[in-house]
Amino acid sequence: MTRFDLMILQDWWFTTLLGTRDPIRPPLKGDVKCDVLIVGAGAAGIAAALRLVKSGKMVIMLEKNIFGGSSTGKSAGFLTPDSELELSQLLRKYGHQGARDLWGVAAKGVDIMVDTIKTHKIDCDLQVQDCLFLGKGASGWKDVQDEVDARAKLGYSSTVYKEAEVPSVIGSNAYSGAIRYKGTYGVNPLLYAQGVKQVLLEGNIEIFESSDVLSWKGNTVFTHLGSVTAEKIIFCIDKPKPNITKFSRDVYHAQTFLSISEPLGDSDIAKLFPDGPLQCWDSDLIYTYFRLTGTKRLLVGGGDLLTTYAKNDTTTPRVMDKVINGLKETIPSLKPLRFIQYWQGRIDMTRDLIPTVLVDPEHPWAHFVLGCVGLPWATFCGDFAARNVMDDREIDSEKFYQYFSPNRSFFLPVWLESILGKRIVFTVNNAWAKYRQKENTPGSGNPK
Ligand SMILES: Cc1cc2nc3c(=O)[nH]c(=O)nc-3n(C[C@H](O)[C@H](O)[C@H](O)COP(=O)(O)OP(=O)(O)OC[C@H]3O[C@@H](n4cnc5c(N)ncnc54)[C@H](O)[C@@H]3O)c2cc1C
Repeated sequence: MTRFDLMILQDWWFTTLLGTRDPIRPPLKGDVKCDVLIVGAGAAGIAAALRLVKSGKMVIMLEKNIFGGSSTGKSAGFLTPDSELELSQLLRKYGHQGARDLWGVAAKGVDIMVDTIKTHKIDCDLQVQDCLFLGKGASGWKDVQDEVDARAKLGYSSTVYKEAEVPSVIGSNAYSGAIRYKGTYGVNPLLYAQGVKQVLLEGNIEIFESSDVLSWKGNTVFTHLGSVTAEKIIFCIDKPKPNITKFSRDVYHAQTFLSISEPLGDSDIAKLFPDGPLQCWDSDLIYTYFRLTGTKRLLVGGGDLLTTYAKNDTTTPRVMDKVINGLKETIPSLKPLRFIQYWQGRIDMTRDLIPTVLVDPEHPWAHFVLGCVGLPWATFCGDFAARNVMDDREIDSEKFYQYFSPNRSFFLPVWLESILGKRIVFTVNNAWAKYRQKENTPGSGNPK
């Protein structure tokens, strides 16, 4: 039997839900009213609810799955400001102030999540783990240096490892260099979501799971068994349908795969991470990422070019098997390690990897948070939308609505999709945003 036949297709975080209290709430039945309705309980919807829980407003949440059951609860739980756009890419694209603003968005998202976990003592395997970006080959070493330079320019600290120094932090001599920095964490994202659910329930937020919003009209949304009428609605949904918002056209997907190993022994961990556990990813275009969980299992993620932009879910274990074998070639001490479960997910994203957050111009009571790449970005954006619903004057709404505007510029316009196809237009726009695009920074006096 080949190795991949041994892995079963199952999200490990769902396995860890066994034994938790109240993992699912009943669906909405009947017609109800509230001040604020939040649709979607991923990282964004959760952050919006956390912001509103002490506002004195009557809040309802509708989630079609369980709390955190979509991308959030499938994710690898790396909490880092570094997402698909590295700091050097933000710096090139937006200049100093823009890079600082947007890195600050993701760093704030990390802080909100970690503060929530600590304040409410949420049992979700929070791991303090420095991150390590590993260069592969000459171009990877250049990527590492670009990141080191960008961090130095913005005054953010980091440690750089040359090729010969890398084995002091990771059990491999196949990498060409690395950069490490602090302020990053690992978390079980589904236990985080479920833990916050308890906090919200105790704060008197009404929560209905298995409640898919099928349509909405005016201030009322409809599920298969009921409806909610609300003064304000915040949609924090993924894979949006055109009947929910016309801005669904701006949301694209990238697929990634994860796998979890059997627990490692202490001596294996010392070989893998000689200087203590780190959360790692490499410089490949479709990068491999890995970290240790609190139960000493290795979580490994990655993908391949063929399936990253696939239209539908890919369920074969072959993709993950290839990623694991690649990692084992790079880190030989992992060769005997067995991986037991794997799963995949399609991450919502936009053409330039920056979220879209807006107040619907035709329905000004409806707010949308769409296409967030990364738990911290989603968290910031959900919190941001809720603050705007509360009319919080302290936040710099104007500036962030410009960064997150659906009308920002892209290299190829949407109409080209009818000629070239959605996937090609997305891939070109995506690469342009990552490697070439330069923008004016909102508030710089020359906004777009
Ligand atoms: C395999 C994988 C690994 C990842 N790893 C990481 C990582 O390590 N670190 C990181 O920062 N990010 C990671 N991500 C990305 C991250 O998970 C997402 O960017 C983030 O979770 C987005 O949060 P969200 O709240 O915007 O969306 P979601 O978590 O998708 O939440 C949206 C919610 O809305 C609900 N919903 C949708 N439509 C309706 C409707 N009509 N009615 C009611 N409810 C609805 C969905 O069920 C869902 O729960 C990963 C993603 C995947 C798939």
